[in-house]
Amino acid sequence: MSFSNFHQHCKKCRKGRPCKKKHVYVMELKLEVYEKSQKFKDANPNYKQGMPCVYVGKTSHHPRCRQSQHNNCKTGDWRGKKWTCYCGMKSEPVSECKISTRTSSIVGKYMTGFLLKSLYKKYNPQQDPQSNEEAEDKLTNELRSQGFGVWAGHLDA
Ligand SMILES: [Zn+2]
Ligand SMILES: [Zn+2]
Repeated sequence: MSFSNFHQHCKKCRKGRPCKKKHVYVMELKLEVYEKSQKFKDANPNYKQGMPCVYVGKTSHHPRCRQSQHNNCKTGDWRGKKWTCYCGMKSEPVSECKISTRTSSIVGKYMTGFLLKSLYKKYNPQQDPQSNEEAEDKLTNELRSQGFGVWAGHLDA
């Protein structure tokens, strides 16, 4: 539990004190995802060459917890691995990866590991699963309209 900068990701989280509401987040993907994944290319007809490629997701945890899942629980290689909850939503901070915490193949293969906080802080937090999903949609649409290449959790998975 060394992470305390919860506030950099959310308007309601405080330094050292996560708000424990729902959050959306953006993770950077390697630019090569656009050339190498036909599925990604097909999902982004308005992609502008040179713009960042990203993954947009939603979580009932803090984005930093989800980042730990993405980094540690990769599809095909999640059994026996562990991830860390920093926000206190789980009573035990370290959990075994499960089928439900694993990361989709596009994310696992192409992520750089960076969260792009400045792109999503203004959307956080959300109160319930429905507004969580709506925020994910809005964020995805906003970024696509700006020319980003986007892979979105529940829309594209
Ligand atoms: Zn928050
Ligand atoms: Zn957590």
